[in-house]
Amino acid sequence: MPQHPRRSLVTGANRGLGLEFVRQLLAHGDHVIAACRHPGKATDLNRLAGDHPARLHVLPLDVADEKSRIAFAHELPLVTDGIDLLVNNAGVLHSGERWGSVSAANLEDSLRTNAMGPFLLTQALATQLVDGAIVANISSGMSSLSDDPDFHSPSYRISKTALNMATKMLAKALEPRGIAVIALCPGWVLTDMGGSGAEISASESVAKLLQVIAAASPGHSGRFLDRFGATMPW
Ligand code: NDP
Repeated sequence: MPQHPRRSLVTGANRGLGLEFVRQLLAHGDHVIAACRHPGKATDLNRLAGDHPARLHVLPLDVADEKSRIAFAHELPLVTDGIDLLVNNAGVLHSGERWGSVSAANLEDSLRTNAMGPFLLTQALATQLVDGAIVANISSGMSSLSDDPDFHSPSYRISKTALNMATKMLAKALEPRGIAVIALCPGWVLTDMGGSGAEISASESVAKLLQVIAAASPGHSGRFLDRFGATMPW
């Protein structure tokens, strides 16, 4: 563990699991950089920033947008001298897709946000990740090729499967620096995306995921884990 407070970056931090990561990381004593598309509208996040002015910085980032990623990478050194934990959490699910009418726009948006975003952001921030850092990519059980999928949210499934390969590639690229890159499944969580029928609260999911992250070592890099730390099938 670092001697200074862990410096953690969370994407998609304005609501859902991302906001909960920020809350719990602050409670753990971390210095947190919370990235979201529209900081001016991120009411809950700004309230937290008011409560923790020295330990929470809110920065703009659209993970799907190249210019935004580049601007973010330039701005980050103004608020921190390194990142110990990167949580690639931002994600999108276009619900209600039906075979025969899956749109190129949905598929492209899903790939840009869920796969290209985490991969290219991690690449852009690689020099700012400290040796021994952890990169946690929030994947989904719906990504698994071992699953026998129904025709539910194909754009999401395809993009999360691509994220899993991105995780393997990043693990390989960052291995020489002892940086562990893992894919995590949060469970079916009560958020805007998970809906009201979901099984667990964001608070429960994130508490478990943070335990898995705390136990992660370079030996876990390139693996896909559930919230209990068990290996998920790719
Ligand atoms: P929500 O829909 O509640 O929140 C999604 C978050 O991602 C929002 O903060 C949203 O910001 C942000 N986001 C979307 N697109 C972008 C973008 N281009 N740039 C930056 N931020 C973006 O989802 P959850 O909190 O439930 O999901 C968080 C992660 O967990 C996702 O990766 C999701 O796929 C994954 N997951 C969730 C499960 C669940 O049951 N909830 C199950 C398995 C995985 P904005 O407000 O601007 O739209």
